[in-house]
Amino acid sequence: MGRKRKRGRQPQRTCVVCRSKRDKGELLRFVLDGTERVYLDKRQHHRGRGAYVCPRPECLTRLKQIHLKRAFRRALSEDAWNPGNAMAEALEGCNFGL
Ligand SMILES: [Zn+2]
Repeated sequence: MGRKRKRGRQPQRTCVVCRSKRDKGELLRFVLDGTERVYLDKRQHHRGRGAYVCPRPECLTRLKQIHLKRAFRRALSEDAWNPGNAMAEALEGCNFGL
């Protein structure tokens, strides 16, 4: 019934927290930069290992060290990730209509 319409050819990515699959463009990408800090890669163009997360407060708040550690396969220092900052940035920078 009806045709399946795909918007563009977005590759799918999996949220590291809830494991749900979505188009890459619908997820937030976090990358580990050269200074060992995790930050939001708004345009998803940055090189390096990235972790994708749903733009949902639940997933962002649950993206704690354990998930980051798994995503980046290394231990990160306490200040590598600031959930509050990342969430504020994510919510303000994206029009996901939360
Ligand atoms: Zn999720």
